[in-house]
Amino acid sequence: MVQIDLLGGVGEIGGNKFLVRDKDSRILLDFGMSLGARGQFFSEPFLAPRDGQGLITLGILPDVHDLYRDGNQPAVDAVILSHAHIDHSMCISLLNRKIPVYCGETTLAILKTLSEMRQKGFENDLEGLEFKTFRTGDHIGFGDIQLEPVHVDHSIPGSYGFLIHTSTGTITYSGDFRAHGTKASLTADFVETAERSQPDLFLCEGTNLVRGDLRTEQEVLEKSDHVIKKTGGLVLASFSSADIDRLRTFHQIARDNDRILVVTMKQAYLLRALSKDKHLETPDVLHDPNLAVYQRTKKVYFHWERDILGETSVKTSKDIREAQDKVILASSSYDMNEVLDIQPGPGGAFINSSSEPFNEEMEMDHERFINWLNHFGLPMYQIHSSGHMMPTELRETIEQVAPKRLVPIHTEQPELYRLFVKDLTKVELGNKGSTIEV
Ligand SMILES: [Zn+2]
Ligand SMILES: [Zn+2]
Repeated sequence: MVQIDLLGGVGEIGGNKFLVRDKDSRILLDFGMSLGARGQFFSEPFLAPRDGQGLITLGILPDVHDLYRDGNQPAVDAVILSHAHIDHSMCISLLNRKIPVYCGETTLAILKTLSEMRQKGFENDLEGLEFKTFRTGDHIGFGDIQLEPVHVDHSIPGSYGFLIHTSTGTITYSGDFRAHGTKASLTADFVETAERSQPDLFLCEGTNLVRGDLRTEQEVLEKSDHVIKKTGGLVLASFSSADIDRLRTFHQIARDNDRILVVTMKQAYLLRALSKDKHLETPDVLHDPNLAVYQRTKKVYFHWERDILGETSVKTSKDIREAQDKVILASSSYDMNEVLDIQPGPGGAFINSSSEPFNEEMEMDHERFINWLNHFGLPMYQIHSSGHMMPTELRETIEQVAPKRLVPIHTEQPELYRLFVKDLTKVELGNKGSTIEV
């Protein structure tokens, strides 16, 4: 009998941790942080977690013997990462160093690069971890378990879903995925492979059940282009640092409108790291005339900041103040002090190209952010295409894969999910900490 412990990622968005046990073989699918649970206790910088034991005591991390750094015998044969988003990967910093971490090559590059830029601490420490990379079509054996990764399209490059072949049947795990993205064919490959394997169980994400908005990357391009064409002043655009598709979209708009896309130092550093992977077709941050890097005002720069500023075309707040109609500035709510220096003139725009606030904490951040926009006189446009399946796509996917059973994951609406697809498969709702059998 095969058992799956739902250690995180049920009844919540992210924090995925699914422990698959087949006789003596064990693998952990994703090791993500439950950001919601963590946020219930901690709010940085004033109250930050001190160590892993604290997170376990508070129930934010599962209490699994020998899974963490102080463990002896490895608790599992491997940790398998679907992609580099922190709600799927962050807890590997705390992992027992005898346990290898498997992920795609792009994921490994992103994890290492982001880790270099983040403040060091027990939640950001890849030192001593043994990474092994896989690609689509590989079959990796862990005793009775065989893992088959297949690429999917998501809002970060290098994302995978998995087929887990066990002694009692096949489990399919979606990771995070979408069917309306620029690389929809990757997801189609995964869905077809899953369909062929006639899975007994599908662990399938349902992030967007109450946030349906079917917009493609092409629509983001067209709508943003329309706004920017009619905007004579400064354009600010906010999008996730690791969303390379979105960066490519704004880069193209910049070129078409005779503007320069000015990215953050963090985005530039990540772009340079990913430029080695030719499949990703990342814009060339070192040479492209429509790309530059924003130099934040600060007294001391980190080594990686000096490194990237030394190699790229650099813009300061003064440069941007003097050429507001020639720039699209990638900036988030955290960059508002810089925008104070830039002093946006009339007729500008702020394009929010990330998800709208969906919890109380984000709501509060959002309200504070509106105060800044009020001060600057910048109207806000919400133009986004989600990294997750839309409800209609989800139904089509489940119908095609035709699993015998399905467990909704990565969703705050498991009951809605059940009712929505109960004619297609048998839906089981698992609680955090519960075990299901295959
Ligand atoms: Zn996620
Ligand atoms: Zn994700």
